[in-house]
Amino acid sequence: MSHDSTTSLQPTRHLDPAQHELGDLILIGMTAVGRGVFATRKLAAGLVLGEIHGEILDDHPEDSSYVMELPSSKLLEPAPPFRFVNHSCDPNCELFYWFDEDSDAQEDRLWVQTIRPIKPGEELSIDYSWPADAAIPCRCGTESCRGWIVDPAERHLLPDPAIPDRTPATAP
Ligand SMILES: [Zn+2]
Repeated sequence: MSHDSTTSLQPTRHLDPAQHELGDLILIGMTAVGRGVFATRKLAAGLVLGEIHGEILDDHPEDSSYVMELPSSKLLEPAPPFRFVNHSCDPNCELFYWFDEDSDAQEDRLWVQTIRPIKPGEELSIDYSWPADAAIPCRCGTESCRGWIVDPAERHLLPDPAIPDRTPATAP
């Protein structure tokens, strides 16, 4: 199971070294599905929040639900705080990596940036886009929820019943 949601999108803002301290931008809190990461203040779209640090692995660990795939296909076991960024089918953040023009290669590091303005107190989310064989039912609750935490391109491989019933309650 791995993330496959990296894009080659270049961030529109460069990381301000002063911003490297994430303490005043985000915090870890509790959600209905465990820990999550929340904005402590208004965040602009296209803001680089920081690099995802963690342990580099060659093989999938037993519990791989947090593992992210690096551009080299090695795996990253992310450390907090970004370890706790939950999935959404309509996310407000995304992972990206830098393209190193000197070596003409992708850096083997993952970063997180916002993709739309985020309100104070709003939970940060990314689209995990897991392969169908690793998918689990999704409870993100967004309008565009795919019913599963799965790569949109592999959604058709999964059955429909996992989609939550959104039929409005009928009036008596
Ligand atoms: Zn969803």
